[in-house]
This record gives sequence, structure tokens and C-alpha cells, in this order.
Amino acid sequence: MDTFKDIYKKIREIEKSTGRNPHSVELLAVSKKQSSKKIRQLWEYGQKAFGENYLQEALLKMADLHDTDINWHFIGPIQNNKTRKIAENFCWVHTIEKEKTAQRLNDQRPEHLAPLNICIQVNIQDEVTKSGVFPQEIIPLVKAIQNLPRLKLRGLMIIPKSSSSVQSSHIPFRQLNQLLNQVNKELNLSLDTLSMGMSNDYQSAIAEGATIIRLGTALFGTRE
Ligand SMILES: *Cc1c(COP(=O)(O)O)cnc(C)c1O
Repeated sequence: MDTFKDIYKKIREIEKSTGRNPHSVELLAVSKKQSSKKIRQLWEYGQKAFGENYLQEALLKMADLHDTDINWHFIGPIQNNKTRKIAENFCWVHTIEKEKTAQRLNDQRPEHLAPLNICIQVNIQDEVTKSGVFPQEIIPLVKAIQNLPRLKLRGLMIIPKSSSSVQSSHIPFRQLNQLLNQVNKELNLSLDTLSMGMSNDYQSAIAEGATIIRLGTALFGTRE
């Protein structure tokens, strides 16, 4: 658990050195390809939020860990045939890029659960293969999600391409922060979440306003 302790300490130090408020950055432990046993160890240490990319894999772990109070975040691509199980088992989804997906999650969110927290995945760098919506598509999607009562829109998410330097790694994070401000201003909202920063670039993401960083390798070591 030393790694976990170190990372936690490091997050607090970066918050301080970049002028962020203490504890304004939440750690999402990305546990794809990691065992239920490792997840349980981290949970026992105090980590509550875990992120999974693959539904079938996640459901198996949830069964193993049903006695815990883990908050599960879905951070992978979503096919239509997966939305029901996602709506039933997760409390956050970070990777919304289509109104249709949002609509299905809304309709399938069980009544006894709180609204599902949602982030819109944004594609700033215009890569053909990357998922996410282009900046000009954000506002229409935000408006659509606002009409879905079983969803709670929280903010924006990004997976930037790897940067050639620390300096350039700041750019997409800064842009995402600006986009969130624009959306809030234009639609008079107070969306509070920037899901950005992974093992390689979380320092830059925190400096640029991340509220959730998603760490896998830095916490668990390399995936098998
Ligand atoms: C795998 C993954 C992560 C974690 O990546 P690391 O580099 O291992 O920290 C974060 N976010 C998403 C969306 C991922 O798929």
C-alpha cells in the first residue's frame, strides 16, 4: 500500500504547489485488468471510487466485492446493448458522446438509485480514431442531457494523446477547463467536474483544474 500512500501524498502536494484547494482533486482508481483482491486491498485502505472500462469484467468484480461500498465509475466505450447493466450498476459514466446513449441510460436507470452522474467525453485534438464529441457539439448534447431526469450532468472528460513535453501536456487540459467555463456561462449552469489526467500526465491536469484524475498504472503497476 506504499504506492497508494505515496500517490495520495503527491496529489495533496501538487494541489498545494499549483494553488488548488486542498482535497479539490478526487482520485479515481482505474482497476481494469486488476484483480478483485487488489481492489479490495485498496478499498480497505480507504479508496472508494474505482473505474472500469469493460462491462463484463466489471460485473464479475462487483459480484466479488458486493459487500463493499465501492462507487463504480464506467470509463470505457459504450455499446447500446451494454447500457442497461451500466445504468443498474454504476454511479458515474465518464464517456458519453451520443444523445442516444444518454437517453438509454436515463430510461434504464432504476428508480431506487440516485440519478447517474455523467461526463461528456470531448475530442479536442481532432484525431480520427479518438472518441468524444467535438467542442461545437458539446452545447447541444448538454441541453439534451439536461432534459433527462435520471441523469445528473457533472462535466467534461478527456483522454488526450500523449504529449511530447510536460509543457504541451497542459494544453488540452487548459482547453477542457475553458470549455467547461464556456458551457456554464452560456447555459447558466454550475457543472463542477473535469475528469482529466492519467498516470503520465496527472500533474499537468491538476495544475489545469482537474477535479477527478483517473490513475491505473501509477497505483497498481503495469497491467497484465
Ligand atoms: C486505462 C485508463 C486510465 C488509466 O490509465 P493509466 O495510464 O494506467 O493511469 C484512465 N482513463 C481511462 C479512460 C482509461 O481507459
